[in-house]
Amino acid sequence: MTLKDIKVGESAQVTVVGGEGALRQHFLDMGVIPGAKIKVVKYAPMGDPIELRLHGYELTLRLADAEKIEVTRVRDDIEEEVRTAVEGDTYSHPGLGEGGKFHDKKHENPLPQDTLLTYALVGNQNSGKTTLFNQLTGSNQHVGNFPGVTVDRKDGAIRNHPNTMVTVLPGIYSMSPYSSEEIVSRNFVLENQPKAIINIVDATNIERNLYLTMQLLEMDIPVVVALNMMDEVSGNGGTIKINVMEDMLGVPVVPISASLNKGVDELVSHAIHIAHYQEKPLINDFCDENAYGGAVHRCIHAVEHLIEDHARREGIPKRFAATKVVEGDQLIVERLALDDKEKDILENIIQQMEKERGLDRSAAIADMRFDFIDKVCSKTVVKPHKSKEHIRSEKIDRILTGKYTAIPAFIVIMGLVFFLTFNVIGAFLQGILETGIDALTAEVSALLERAGVNPVVHGLVVDGVFAGVGSVLSFIPIIITLFFFLSLMEDSGYIARVAFVMDKLLRRIGLSGRSIVPMLIGFGCTVPAVMSTRTLPSERDRKMTILLTPFMSCSAKVPIYAFFVNAFFPGRGGFIMTGLYILGIIVGVLAALVMKLSIFRGEAVPFVMELPSYRMPGAKNVRLLLWEKAKDFLQRAFSVIFVATIIVWFLQSFDLHFNLVEDSSMSILATLAGTIAPVFAPLGLGDWRIVTSLISGFMAKESVVSTLEVLFAEEGGIASALTAQGAVTMLIFSLLYTPCVAAVSTIKREMNGKWAVFTVLWQCLVAWIVAYLVKLLLIAFGV
Ligand code: GDP
Ligand code: MG
Repeated sequence: MTLKDIKVGESAQVTVVGGEGALRQHFLDMGVIPGAKIKVVKYAPMGDPIELRLHGYELTLRLADAEKIEVTRVRDDIEEEVRTAVEGDTYSHPGLGEGGKFHDKKHENPLPQDTLLTYALVGNQNSGKTTLFNQLTGSNQHVGNFPGVTVDRKDGAIRNHPNTMVTVLPGIYSMSPYSSEEIVSRNFVLENQPKAIINIVDATNIERNLYLTMQLLEMDIPVVVALNMMDEVSGNGGTIKINVMEDMLGVPVVPISASLNKGVDELVSHAIHIAHYQEKPLINDFCDENAYGGAVHRCIHAVEHLIEDHARREGIPKRFAATKVVEGDQLIVERLALDDKEKDILENIIQQMEKERGLDRSAAIADMRFDFIDKVCSKTVVKPHKSKEHIRSEKIDRILTGKYTAIPAFIVIMGLVFFLTFNVIGAFLQGILETGIDALTAEVSALLERAGVNPVVHGLVVDGVFAGVGSVLSFIPIIITLFFFLSLMEDSGYIARVAFVMDKLLRRIGLSGRSIVPMLIGFGCTVPAVMSTRTLPSERDRKMTILLTPFMSCSAKVPIYAFFVNAFFPGRGGFIMTGLYILGIIVGVLAALVMKLSIFRGEAVPFVMELPSYRMPGAKNVRLLLWEKAKDFLQRAFSVIFVATIIVWFLQSFDLHFNLVEDSSMSILATLAGTIAPVFAPLGLGDWRIVTSLISGFMAKESVVSTLEVLFAEEGGIASALTAQGAVTMLIFSLLYTPCVAAVSTIKREMNGKWAVFTVLWQCLVAWIVAYLVKLLLIAFGV
C-alpha cells in the first residue's frame, strides 16, 4: 500500500521511502522517513497534490510522489498526539527571554577586540528569519546577491553593535544539496566561515526545525539556537525546558518572540559571547551507540577516521563530512578526493551498516537524526493542547483550500487586490503624485523660461526628463500598493495555498504551483512580477516563469486599449479588453508549451512544500519591504529610465544633421521608424507614426498613447491612418510585443543580458505572428 491509497482523515506509518536522488533525500529531510506517522489532511480541489500532516506540520506532495512512499495504515490519529508528562523537574520556564538568567560562560581565548563578528542567520522557511533580522538590524540592511547566483543576500549590522554583520541565508530544511538555496547556504557556511551561526527554530514546529539544527551543530562553528514563536507556545499552555535542551544540544538556547521583540536582546548577548569567545557546540555526536546495535554509530565514527585528513585539507568539518559521505552526498565525496582504496573501504563500511540497520544509507542517517530529536523533545517539550493557531488555520483552510470554495475564493481575493491597487488606493495616490509632478514640471518650466534658458535645454528638461521620468515615477504608488498586498498574502501563508491549489493546472504547462504568483503580479506590472520569481525553487522554473510573465497584460497597457476602443470600437470596450487579457493568457500558455518542448525540456521540480500556519504579518516586515521596493524602483527611474528618456527626446527633436526639427516627421526617430516601417506593413501598421509610437512604448507602454496623440494631433486623429482591422492588429501587437525598458532591465538583472535581448526579440516575433494570424482570420471571416 502506498500513501496514495490512504483516504482523507486516515493515518499511516511509512515503511519504505522510494524515489531516488535529490528528491528522495528531500523527502527524508522533510521527515518522511520509515516509521514516521502521516495523516492525509486533504486533496487539492483539482485532486492533486495532497496535503499531509506529519511531525506536527503540514506538507504537500503530488500524487505521483506519494505513490513512491509505502505505508501501512494505522488506527491512532496523530492529531491527538500531545506531549504532557515530562519526567524530571517541572519548573516553569519564563518563556520569552530568560529573565536575565545567564549561563556559566567560558572566558578563554577571546578573539581580538576589533574582529568583525560575522553571523549566518539560518533557519527553515517561515521560521521568522526576516522578522528576526529586521529586529536585529533595524534599517542597517544591504540587499545584494550571493556571488554567482541570483538568490537574495541580505546583511546588516546588529543595532548598537557596529562591529557585527549578520547575513540571512535562504530558508532551508537541510544542508543537503537539494535546491540551489541549500547549496548557497551550505557553501556560505563552509567557505565564508562566519564567526558564529544564529539558528532560528520555530518552536511550534520544533521536530522538523531541529533537523537542520543538528546539521549545523556538526559544522564546528559556534551556534546559538533562537527558539522563535515562543509567544504561541506559551499562549497555548505549552512550555519548553530550555536548560534541559541546552544540555542536550550543547549550545545556548534562547527563547524569543521575534515579532514581539522579546528575548532578542538576550539572544544578541549570547550571540556576541559565543562568537567572541569562539564557543563551539559541546556535542556533535548524535548517534546512539546502543540504538539498533549501534550500526549507524560505528559506521559514522569509522568513516570519520577514514576521511579525517581529507576533510582537514579541504577545510570541511570532519563530523559534517562524515555524515554527508555516509548519506551519499556526491558533492562532498568528490571534494574529499579519496583514492580508490579508501573509496572501497568507505563503501564496505556503509554497506555493512545498511545491512545491520536494515535501512539504506540516507534513510539511516535521517532516522538517526529524528531519533535524537525525538529524545530531546520528549524530555523538553510540553505541548498540551492542539494550538489555537492550528485550529484557526484549519478553519481558514476550509474555505481557502476547500474543494468548491478554493478557486472562487482565489478569484475574489485577486480581484479585490487588483481593484484596490489599480482603482482605489494606488490610483488615488498616483493621482496625487501626478498632480505634484505636473505642478513641479510647470514650476521648473516657468523658472527656466524666466531665466532665459536656451529652448533646446528647456525642451530637454521639461519634455524629456520631467515627462519621461515623471511618468514612470507616478507608478510608484501602484507598485508599492501591489507589493503591500502581495507581502500580506505571502507573509500570512496564503500564497503557499495558492500554489497548492493551482499546482495541477500549471503542471500541464511544465511549471509548478509556485509559478502562479509571478504571473498574477504580471497583470499589474512585469517588474515586480519578475522580481518575485526569486522564491521559485529551481532555476529552470524560474527562467521559464520570467519569460512567461510579460505575456500577462500589464496595467500600463490599459490606456492603449482605451485609446483604440474609443477611436474604433466605441461601446465595445469590455468585450475587447477581456478578449485581450484572455489572449495574453492563451499565448502565455502556448509559449510555455513551446518552451517545455524546446529550451526548457524536463519536468518542473517536484512539489514538496510546507504549508505554514496562517500568521499575522508583522507591520515592521511589511514596512521595510515596501521601503526596499520603493528604493529599488527609484534607483531604476533615475538611472536606466533617465538615460533612455533623454535618448528618445534627442531622437525626436533632431534630424540626421543634428539640426533641431520643427516637425517631428523630419526627426531621426521618424527616419528610423520609416526604415523599419516595412516590417509592420503586412500588419497594416506601416505608418511611421504608428511605428514611432510602438518604439516609444518600449520606454513605457503608456507613451504609445501620448506619442500617437502628439503625432496625429493635426490630421483628423488616428482614424485617418488606420482601418478597424489595423486597430485590431495594433491592439494585439501592443499586448504581446516587448516588455518596457524597466521590465527588460529587471529581466537582465534577474537572468542576464542575453536573456533580456532574447525576451525582446522573441516577444516581438510572437506578437508579429499572432497579430498577422488574427489579421488573416479577420480577412477569412470577412470582418
Ligand atoms: P521567514 O520566512 O523565515 O523569513 O519568516 P518571516 O519572518 O517572514 O515570518 C513568517 C511569519 O511568522 C510572518 O507572518 C511573521 O509575522 C510571523 N512571525 C515571526 N516571528 C513570530 C513570532 O515570534 N511570533 C508569532 N506569533 N509570529 C511570528
Ligand atoms: Mg522571509
